[in-house]
Amino acid sequence: MVHYLDHAASTPVCPAAVSAMTEVLTEGFGNPSGSHRLAREANRRLDAARASIADGFGFAPGNIVFTSGGTEADSMAVHGSLRRAERRRPDRRPQLVCSAIEHHAVLDPVVGHGGTTIGVTVDGVLDLGHLHTVLGHLADADAPVGLVSVMAANNETGVVQPVAEAAAITRDLAPDALFHTDAVQFGAWHDTAELADVVDLMSVSAHKLGGPKGVGFLAVADGVELPAQQIGGGQERGRRGGTQNVPGIMAMAAAVDTMVAERDAQATRVRALRDEMVERILASVEGIVVTGRSGPRLPNIAHICFAGVESEALLFLLEKDDVMASAASSCASGAQQASHVLAAMGVPDALARGSVRFSLGYTSTPDDVDAAVDAALGAVLRIRDRG
Ligand code: PLP
Repeated sequence: MVHYLDHAASTPVCPAAVSAMTEVLTEGFGNPSGSHRLAREANRRLDAARASIADGFGFAPGNIVFTSGGTEADSMAVHGSLRRAERRRPDRRPQLVCSAIEHHAVLDPVVGHGGTTIGVTVDGVLDLGHLHTVLGHLADADAPVGLVSVMAANNETGVVQPVAEAAAITRDLAPDALFHTDAVQFGAWHDTAELADVVDLMSVSAHKLGGPKGVGFLAVADGVELPAQQIGGGQERGRRGGTQNVPGIMAMAAAVDTMVAERDAQATRVRALRDEMVERILASVEGIVVTGRSGPRLPNIAHICFAGVESEALLFLLEKDDVMASAASSCASGAQQASHVLAAMGVPDALARGSVRFSLGYTSTPDDVDAAVDAALGAVLRIRDRG
C-alpha cells in the first residue's frame, strides 16, 4: 500500500471531478465558441463552471480567466503587468518586485527582467520592512512599478504570507502597480474571499485541490486591464485566446465545490494528523529542525530538515517503505542545489540539503502518519549509521 505524502505536488483527482470530466468527454464535447446546439450547451456548462469557481474564491464570473494551470496564470500576471506598465509609461523601464520565495513561475520572469526580490525572515515570512524600503526607493526615483507579487502560502514550507499587509504597502507607495498573489497552495486550504478584496490578480491551479493537471485560472479584479499574452480566437473576453479546456474546467468546478464544502473539516482533520506526525518524528529522530513552525502555516505541509542526511538518500529509503514525499531542494543538472526558499530564510546549506517535505491531503489517514514516522526513523538511522 502506498502512503502518499506529496499532496502539495499534486493531490488525487476527487471522484466528483472524475465524473464531471467523464461526462464532458463522452457527451458534452461541443466547442463553446460555436453556434449550434451542442456548442451552446458546452458554453452553458462553461458559464456555470465559471460562476461556481468564481464564487468559491470570492470573485465574480467576469474576473476569471481560465489558463492551463498555475504556471500560466503566474506568467500571465507577470508578463501582462509588465506590458501594461510599458504602455502606461513608455519612456521608463518598469520595475517588477516579488518575494524571494516565490514559485519559479513568478521568480524566474521577475528576476529575468532584472526585478527586485524581497527578503524573508528566518521563519520564512515576507519582510514587510524590506518591501516598504524597496518601494519607497523606487517611488523616490520616480521608477514605475509594474507588479508586486507575494504568494499567499509557500509551496515548500507552507508558511502563510502577510498578503493583505503587502498589498496595503503597495497601494500606498506604488499605487500604479498591480498586486498579484499566487494562491496555488493557499486556496486549497483557506477561504480566499478576503484576499480577493485586496489583490488585483490571483493565480489558482486545479491539481492542488482535487482537480486535474493542466487547468487553472488567473482572477483579474474589476477594472484591471491586463494585456493578453496569448491572442487569437478571442476566448476569455480576449484575455486568453484558445479553445478552453472544457473537461478540465468542469472537473475543476466540481473539485472546487467539493473543496469548499469540506475545506474546514478537512483542514482541522489534516492539521491534527500533520501535527501528530511532526511531534512523533521530533520525539524519535534526533538532529532535526521543523521549518516555519512559529507562525501561521498551511495545515497540510510538514517541512523538516534532517541534519547530516542527504534528502535524496532519505527519499530513496522512504520510497522503499512505500512513503512518497519530496525534497524541498531541486536537482539541477545532476547536482543537488539548495532550495532558493531555504537560502532566503538563511538555513545553512548543510541543513537544507537534508530537507524533506511531507504534505498531506484529503485522502491522508492515520496509517499514512504511522508509516511516515516509522520510515523516517528507520531511514535516518540507516543513513547516519553508514556515515
Ligand atoms: N505556484 C505554486 C505556489 C505552486 O506550488 C505550483 C505548483 O507546484 C505552481 C505555481 C505551478 O502550478 P501548475 O503546476 O499548475 O503549473
